[in-house]
Amino acid sequence: MCVDQSVSVRNGTHEELVDWLVSIGAARTDAVRTAIAAVDRACFVPPGIAADPYANAPVVLKVDAAGRAVSTISQPTMVVEMLEQLAVASGDRVLEVGTASGYNAALLAQLVGETGLVVSVELDEELAVSAARRLTGCGQVEVVHGDGREGFEARAPYDRIIVTAGASEVASTWHEQLAAGGRLVVPITGADGRGQCLTLDRTDEGFTQRAASPCGFVPLR
Ligand code: SAH
Repeated sequence: MCVDQSVSVRNGTHEELVDWLVSIGAARTDAVRTAIAAVDRACFVPPGIAADPYANAPVVLKVDAAGRAVSTISQPTMVVEMLEQLAVASGDRVLEVGTASGYNAALLAQLVGETGLVVSVELDEELAVSAARRLTGCGQVEVVHGDGREGFEARAPYDRIIVTAGASEVASTWHEQLAAGGRLVVPITGADGRGQCLTLDRTDEGFTQRAASPCGFVPLR
């Protein structure tokens, strides 16, 4: 992952954000370019949240009692880099941990197409309910209210698993629920949410690491 995640750029429209993500080399494949062009990030910013949907910045959806973000729409460059690392193919079955707004789930639904499946698990019931509503008509997506560290056994195995909150370790269930040869993209972070986003391919015994890059995420709870 080569894009500097600290750049904060303001793009005025959906098309400008898409063009910018392509121009800086963040969206590199046809599949990811087509997916980001098809999904308008503004549709995933809930009413009442004053944030520029086209800026290269996270959008905070919820904070805890201490004012720390517990749910965000991730920064566009981070979203796109993770999708490039995940390398989803049409027809894949994908598990996402951390639905939040549903923006990334909508992009995943574009990537898997009509013959694939996206299962997105969200711990916060209110967020899960509103994301499910927002994702109606966005393709083959199921939103599940639950703890994503347990994966979602009922729809396993998955070809791809993407974790969009900072984990302290790789949960054994993610290994168990990945298909042979499947891929996991997961940020491994400390309590401050900073760490490394890892791209891991499943082997019989564990994983082989394909890539790692610095990242910041709200922690898994
Ligand atoms: N993918 C999202 C961004 C995720 S932000 C998007 O496209 O907008 C991280 C989300 O993970 C938050 O909404 C948070 O509530 C959720 N989360 C935290 N711990 C979780 C857990 N154990 N299981 C499932 N979701 C969790």
